[in-house]
Amino acid sequence: MAVTEAGCDLTYCKMRGIVAVLTAFIKERKMGLNDFIQKLAATPHICQQPSVSVWLQGLFLLLVFQMYLSPRSSLAEDTQIKPCDFDYLKIIGKGSFGKVLLARHRETTRYYAVKVLQKKIILKKKEQKHIMAERSVLMKNVQHPFLVGLHYSFQTTDKLYFVLDYVNGGEVTQGPVLCGGDRQDLKPENILLDSQGHIVLTDFGLCKEGLEPNGTTSTFCGTPEYLAPEVLQKQAYDRTVDWWCLGSVLYEMLYGLPPFYSRNTAEMYNNILHKAPVLKPNVSNAGRELLEGLLQKERCSRLGAKDDFLELKHHSFFSPINWDDLMAKKLAPPFVPSVSGPTDLRHFDPEFTHLPVSASLCSDSAAVTGSVREAAGAFPGFSYGPPSDHAFM
Ligand code: AMP
Repeated sequence: MAVTEAGCDLTYCKMRGIVAVLTAFIKERKMGLNDFIQKLAATPHICQQPSVSVWLQGLFLLLVFQMYLSPRSSLAEDTQIKPCDFDYLKIIGKGSFGKVLLARHRETTRYYAVKVLQKKIILKKKEQKHIMAERSVLMKNVQHPFLVGLHYSFQTTDKLYFVLDYVNGGEVTQGPVLCGGDRQDLKPENILLDSQGHIVLTDFGLCKEGLEPNGTTSTFCGTPEYLAPEVLQKQAYDRTVDWWCLGSVLYEMLYGLPPFYSRNTAEMYNNILHKAPVLKPNVSNAGRELLEGLLQKERCSRLGAKDDFLELKHHSFFSPINWDDLMAKKLAPPFVPSVSGPTDLRHFDPEFTHLPVSASLCSDSAAVTGSVREAAGAFPGFSYGPPSDHAFM
């Protein structure tokens, strides 16, 4: 095909070339304008055609407008935030892929928890999908009252950074855990208390994103103590695994240990599959009835199988709860942790807070080996920044 105008042939091939350059630019929007202009200059056979150059100028203007007028949140890898915008004060926790640090934003002096993950460890364990799922769960629930808020995510060649609300009231030992919203890997270590005593759920790394009430999957997901029988047996499972998991965490809060616990993992798995939970009478009837409903081995008979969250909400165990007030954080938390301010680290394990903070957090210092080069491009679209008006609010 040839489009002829003003004596100049714009062949299908050339058009494809132009469209490819522009599409890449629109799609990724990683390139600065200079890079883009240089790329065009390097393909003079395209630019020299008069009709093409007029066409390009028009499109180019449109792109520039689109780039500068659209909200920042859509700029995939173009957040302006970088590691050196923060002072890293203390290590406050460790996960399987890296550390969580208390950090202060240099300009605003606000405190954040910054989770720093090593790309090569994630790649070695083939966990890229889980990390990207964690990022998107965090992004989806930016406004949820009981989920940790994500302010930014960004990356260097060798590390991924999540800039999160800093929550320093410690991990929960008792309290309501029902209002977390979408799926998460629920376990006591992931339920933190803020300085007022409200719960905040963190760590969505092992979530199954967007599983609908009737959808099923069979991928392994979760912590061994809290795994539902159908997950252990690698059968298809659905959202009812969450209600099993909630039952296990609630049991641990009420009785002190997970329901089928054994130090011997094989025995624990056997208990999960075949033993009835032991429900001693030191818990109210409503509480024991709730646990029995949540810890049903057959997922179709489990509490929540028919009407999901509504079934739990209307259970007699929760009858004293005004859910609207709870969501509005109007209910007084049963326990208010004592913290004197953001730098009060008494609720964090000294095993972490006494560790030295690495200077390499503030640099992109990885030696460029083959594996670093592979890691560098393995997380396209990871970076996230809110619209500039909301940055660091
Ligand atoms: P994770 O890798 O998310 O499991 O985090 C490891 C530990 O770091 C947690 O058990 C918490 O003690 C701590 N932590 C994680 N996120 C935060 C946060 N947003 N604020 C304070 N501490 C956190």
